[in-house]
Amino acid sequence: MFMEYDNNNIFAKILRGEIPCDKVFENDYAIAFKDIHPQAPEHLLVIPRRAYVSFEDFSNNANDEEISGFIRAVGQVARDAGIVGTGYRILSNHGNDGRQEIPHFHVHVLGGHDLGGMIPRN
Ligand code: AMP
Repeated sequence: MFMEYDNNNIFAKILRGEIPCDKVFENDYAIAFKDIHPQAPEHLLVIPRRAYVSFEDFSNNANDEEISGFIRAVGQVARDAGIVGTGYRILSNHGNDGRQEIPHFHVHVLGGHDLGGMIPRN
């Protein structure tokens, strides 16, 4: 793990209901809500209910049920958003080079228009 989990990160507070979010999905494994600074017409964040710092932590330490439950949740969120037909992108930032801002594992689901090239340089 590249860093200890911080129980006071924003997504931990959202999970505890201490700060609001625009929730679009929840089940036993994950919740999903709208990104507060959307970078596409549909920009959703899917986060596991349990505390994992990033994809590195989740892929290494979550059990198979959590991983499959989470991945299925990501697919369901995209389906619910109505972007399967037109297409979408999922991504997850880890660490400094990935410019991860919030240290609770999350997957971005982006869609609703042509998303352009995969990696912008700025
Ligand atoms: P990153 O950690 O770089 O993968 O991205 C964190 C994402 O969380 C950014 O796209 C932010 O706009 C988003 N974000 C930060 N705070 C909130 C919040 N309170 N509710 C929803 N999205 C948020």
